[in-house]
Amino acid sequence: MKLRSYVEAAWYEAPGGFTEVSSAVDGRTVALVSSQGVDFGRVLDYARNVGGPALRALTFHERAEAIKRLAAHLDAYKERFYQLSFDTGATRKDSWTDIDGGIITLRSFASKARRELPDARVAVDGALEPLSKGGTFAGRHIMTPLRGAAVHINAYNFPCWGMLEKLAPAFIAGVPAIVKPATQSAYVAHAVFEEIIASGILPEGSVQFIAGSLGDLLERLTGQDVVSFTGSASTAVKLQRIAAIAQNSVRFIAERDSLNAAILGSDVAETDPEFDLFVREVAREITTKAGQRCTCIRRAIVPRALLDRVQSALVARLDRAVLGDPRSEKVTMGALVSCGQRDDVRAAVAELAQEAIIVYGDLDAPPHVVDADAKAGAFLSPIVLRCERPLQATRVHSVEAFGPVTTLMAYDTIDDAIAIANRGEGSLVASIFSYDTATADALVLGIAPFHGRVLVVDRDDAKEQTGHGSPLAPLVHGGPGRAGGGEEMGGVRGIFHYMQRTAVQGTPQRLATVSGVWNPGATETAADGHPFERAYEELRVGETFHTRTREITLEDIERFAHFTGDEFYAHMDEAAAKTSPFFEGRVAHGYLVLSFAAGLFVRSELGPVLANYGLENLRFLTPVYPGDTMRVRLTVKEKRPRKPEYGEVRWSVTVFNQRDEIVATYDLLTMNATAAHVPALEPA
Ligand code: NAP
Repeated sequence: MKLRSYVEAAWYEAPGGFTEVSSAVDGRTVALVSSQGVDFGRVLDYARNVGGPALRALTFHERAEAIKRLAAHLDAYKERFYQLSFDTGATRKDSWTDIDGGIITLRSFASKARRELPDARVAVDGALEPLSKGGTFAGRHIMTPLRGAAVHINAYNFPCWGMLEKLAPAFIAGVPAIVKPATQSAYVAHAVFEEIIASGILPEGSVQFIAGSLGDLLERLTGQDVVSFTGSASTAVKLQRIAAIAQNSVRFIAERDSLNAAILGSDVAETDPEFDLFVREVAREITTKAGQRCTCIRRAIVPRALLDRVQSALVARLDRAVLGDPRSEKVTMGALVSCGQRDDVRAAVAELAQEAIIVYGDLDAPPHVVDADAKAGAFLSPIVLRCERPLQATRVHSVEAFGPVTTLMAYDTIDDAIAIANRGEGSLVASIFSYDTATADALVLGIAPFHGRVLVVDRDDAKEQTGHGSPLAPLVHGGPGRAGGGEEMGGVRGIFHYMQRTAVQGTPQRLATVSGVWNPGATETAADGHPFERAYEELRVGETFHTRTREITLEDIERFAHFTGDEFYAHMDEAAAKTSPFFEGRVAHGYLVLSFAAGLFVRSELGPVLANYGLENLRFLTPVYPGDTMRVRLTVKEKRPRKPEYGEVRWSVTVFNQRDEIVATYDLLTMNATAAHVPALEPA
């Protein structure tokens, strides 16, 4: 099958220059890959001039909605991707993270964006910063999409997930993507991309696909473009040195190789559940995807006294692995992606063997396989090495054998365990297996600066923890140092990578109009009637309602105290209250102020406000004494659509006293019905 590129809204087949890609299982040719003849200048122009404007015309929510629909579309075609994925050597279980995991990642980005970003084209980051005494000058950070292209260079081991985890944040940010899959598994990425185009969901120019090399594309990048790279550190370093990338400060996000660790705590005995959990996880990591996961446990760090017992338990587990054709139901471990990759792994193990001894597996003899020809496929048995003096070694901490390979390492003290883990010079993930608080805390804090993610496994979370190798989309995926430099791909920060953070300074009103978020000092617009009477779409940002006033009496405070049981001395005892540096005598409860504030602005009639969703940024700034009066200013600060039936309204609430001092400020979140769904009682 000749793979085609998708450029300038059309499929393009190269006339020649093909690289042949073989099946990992039986060696037959499964794809021919070439980008010969692609005009990369035009590809970039198309992204920048057609894709970018089309994406920027949409709001974050519209883009997130498209990604959600795309996930549903791909879900319907995933069986085709699973079938193709067998030829990469992956079992069905292995491919789950890549295919279902990729689709879940799309959904996760879409829902996070809809919850955390506005239905607008600009996002704000952080709060308004007052910059003047008189309040006429302030600043705030806004986020706007870069005007270039996002070039996505992916590794071979996750052709689907790797592509989708990058596409979603770039698309939601409003930046068009040019996807370059790794040649070795490009046929899986190609099939997924064909479905992306067939769905017709994404606007023209927002995604392009290069089957084969990137030609001179990287030499044409500017400071408005972004490269998101996943692969080996050596390739990353080479690409970062390209003149255009270095000179134009092109953002270069890298997910690179990582010598991840698992540490068995010194508190654990062989009979403890954590011992078994540790051995099981190490065995699972090196057999899943034949150890070709960026998160795979390369270094298993074990108390010296337990090293022999961990080794025999691990060997017993690995003996149960069944190698062979990943299509076979009996098979638990497939092949490496190619014979070339197997050669690379053998060479890397030979290097490791200069500092550690091989205690399990055979580098050279073809392993026993079922339903396959061991000589035709890229099969390799799991390999375990053992290093007695890891603090005196270097290669075991720096050479990544990207296959079913791990090294057992002995340690004597917790400090040694920490030092050994950190010798990886920056990793994606480390797992700690311990049931002792002091041990687990010391390990977490000792290794955290060198890791993007730390997983602590014990008998209490054993059943529900998601495993060493499972990055979850809302959490950090990425790591410092060798692992890529600490860039984080998950969550809204992953979206912000494709945007510029700009500090805008001006009047509070200017900042409100630029950002779409009302802030104190900006214009308050008066609307007819009470805002709680109007449906979601009728509310305008900046619309303000001022309540009547209400006096707070000593009797109110006492009744509130007895009713709620909150009889804190500052509300009940004049002499005790006066000892406080904050109060001149008995004060009203903060909760009373909140409750009375609600009493001043809520409506009793059935109407569009469906629910109080919570308060944020609450501060009590001035005490309320018996005899004070309070009033409330309620302003629509921001709106976010949620469902066709309702949306979320963020209200800025400020409580004042009779001297116009601010008593309390907070954001109130309500769910408000849309006009067509305002609840009404059936006529009797
Ligand atoms: P690789 O050989 O470094 O290749 C990575 C990507 O770079 C491929 O798409 C490759 O394309 C492309 N590439 C190579 N040279 C290029 C050039 N001169 N210009 C433009 N693109 C170029 O890595 P791999 O063997 O595919 O993947 C395995 C590695 O990825 C392992 O080291 C693993 O640890 C790492 N990885 C890391 C993470 C993470 O999150 N940190 C995740 C997955 C994998 P071709 O295939 O066409 O050469």
